[in-house]
Amino acid sequence: MAAGQLGGDAAVPREVVIYAHHQPDEAHGIVSLEGGHVPYATIDQLVEWCTQAGSRVSVRPVLDLSEEITVDRYTPTQRQREQAILLTPTCVFPHCNKDARGCDLDHITAYSQGGKTTSWNLAPLCRFHHRVKTFSTWTYHRTSRTGFVWTSPKGRVHPVDLTDFTTEHRRRTR
Ligand SMILES: [Zn+2]
Repeated sequence: MAAGQLGGDAAVPREVVIYAHHQPDEAHGIVSLEGGHVPYATIDQLVEWCTQAGSRVSVRPVLDLSEEITVDRYTPTQRQREQAILLTPTCVFPHCNKDARGCDLDHITAYSQGGKTTSWNLAPLCRFHHRVKTFSTWTYHRTSRTGFVWTSPKGRVHPVDLTDFTTEHRRRTR
């Protein structure tokens, strides 16, 4: 289980998102805690602790960042979107650092050209760079879960590797 942003100023509303090995129908399930003061807690206890400080709490099933999620339709699922945001927390265009939460989820190979709605064909692009990619000859492909290579209209190659950034971002938001 991983918990985010516990503690801090009680006067500031916070959102706490917990990815737990827990099924939604197990309303009173017990979850194990990593790095907490106690080894386990019930979901009800977790919710109580987190809401005492005025936080909004979501408990979601664990998202495996190495899992390839595929759906047979154009629009990505919320789970695919969340996975993409956790993998690459910013727009993946070279040197853009717009927060992925406000980004569109782009089909790297366009759906109309046979690109599937599958984890490795989806990446966050801010609205501006989504338009740049759609309406110009900029192209890119994925080289790893957090790596991409962009090619400009003039043929210049721009590697993007968000590995370090992703790790740093997770450390900061923990
Ligand atoms: Zn961008």
